[in-house]
Amino acid sequence: MRAVEAAGADVIHFDVMDGHFVPNISIGIPVLKSVRAITRLPLDAHLMIENPERYVEAFAQAGADLISVHAETCADLPAIAARIREHGVHASVAINPETSPECVLAAAEHLDMILVMSVHPGFGGQEFIPESLEKVDVIRRALDRRALKVDIEVDGGVKVDNAAEVGRAGADILVSGSGIFGQSDYARIVAEMRRRAERGG
Ligand code: ZN
Repeated sequence: MRAVEAAGADVIHFDVMDGHFVPNISIGIPVLKSVRAITRLPLDAHLMIENPERYVEAFAQAGADLISVHAETCADLPAIAARIREHGVHASVAINPETSPECVLAAAEHLDMILVMSVHPGFGGQEFIPESLEKVDVIRRALDRRALKVDIEVDGGVKVDNAAEVGRAGADILVSGSGIFGQSDYARIVAEMRRRAERGG
């Protein structure tokens, strides 16, 4: 964590998996609390869990700066966004590759961020799904038409090789796991991903 902070990462993205919404089980509230204690970077908690409304308060108290819940798990997106914001935490909704962007766009004025999954959630190290770029582009245009300041984050299979396309499609925040941790020089790879994403090529 300290190494990626020193390398210039802007945010720590924290994947929470419950073994229900996704088949895998990862890490949870005590680990987030430990991470909070060792970094000043914003913590972006991505809850790949069922019934996320039950855990919003605990993640907020553990130190999350932003909480993403999945659209597939929430019937009332404005309500859960309000609940997240009540704790002074930024609210985000994530959508899986097969989920249409309409549901998040309908709730966009209640959100700080929209998270587009560019792999099927649950496991690291998957290949980027190219159709995700079109979805990012559709969301970016819709947000711009309504002059909404909502960030778009892209999560899954993002690497230095596709950072330019992801940035060009309209993403503001790129999540990269193996794309960074699989490299030896974090600072070089973070700088190169940022350069490519910002210039879109
Ligand atoms: Zn994630």
